Amino acid sequence: MSLCQANQNSRDNKGQVSCGSCCGLFNLDLNTQEYKKLLRERTDEFNESVDFQVTHTMPAYRQSREKKEESLIKKDETTYNCPFLGYLDSHQSRIGCMIHPVRTGNPKSQNFSFYGSSICLGYECRNKENANVDFWEKIFAEVSKDSIEYSQLSANHPLVRRLETIYGENNLTKHREEIRDLLIELIQRGLVLNNLTSFEVDYMTKESIEECVIAIRELKS
Ligand code: SF4
Ligand code: SF4
Repeated sequence: MSLCQANQNSRDNKGQVSCGSCCGLFNLDLNTQEYKKLLRERTDEFNESVDFQVTHTMPAYRQSREKKEESLIKKDETTYNCPFLGYLDSHQSRIGCMIHPVRTGNPKSQNFSFYGSSICLGYECRNKENANVDFWEKIFAEVSKDSIEYSQLSANHPLVRRLETIYGENNLTKHREEIRDLLIELIQRGLVLNNLTSFEVDYMTKESIEECVIAIRELKS
């Protein structure tokens, strides 16, 4: 199991979910339908134009997508959004790196990206490093309708930190049902879906975290 690719279906059972937050998708100022449309467009163009045996097709794809996406508004100008993030399966439910070595057979294929393969392969976000990662992976997959929601939860280390403080990092299993209901409620209220990336920077504002905490208290009382 890995937080990046959950071994579990979405809440409505429409396919497996996965995370792509560290590849910068949520730095683009789009809504859920627009994220999905962008991912579909990337995937279609990638499938039509890239041949792993013809290596120059990978940088050519990147150049083409960067040009097409340059007018999209970024929330943080310093955060890159990588066009190699797309759909990995034919049902378009799982998102991930379209030039991952598992797909290309080339251990260095991510060198065609902005970050390069050592960063892409070596990066582990805070939630992935968390001792309770298995608990969070399962529960995030269970409460998410799709990979967009799953990604936004998986990247959200400020929220995980808060929940572990409230429930106790060693007591999560005991409060599983409560945490599950709470996460669904927070998603429905749109409160947990605004951390831009999984990076160390805490993009969730103090106000939005406090809003979550107030909602948690309301639900617990
Ligand atoms: S944000 Fe974390 S869980 Fe998501 S893809 Fe990156 S490393 Fe994996
Ligand atoms: S090349 Fe790196 S940044 Fe781009 S999608 Fe793949 S893992 Fe993410």
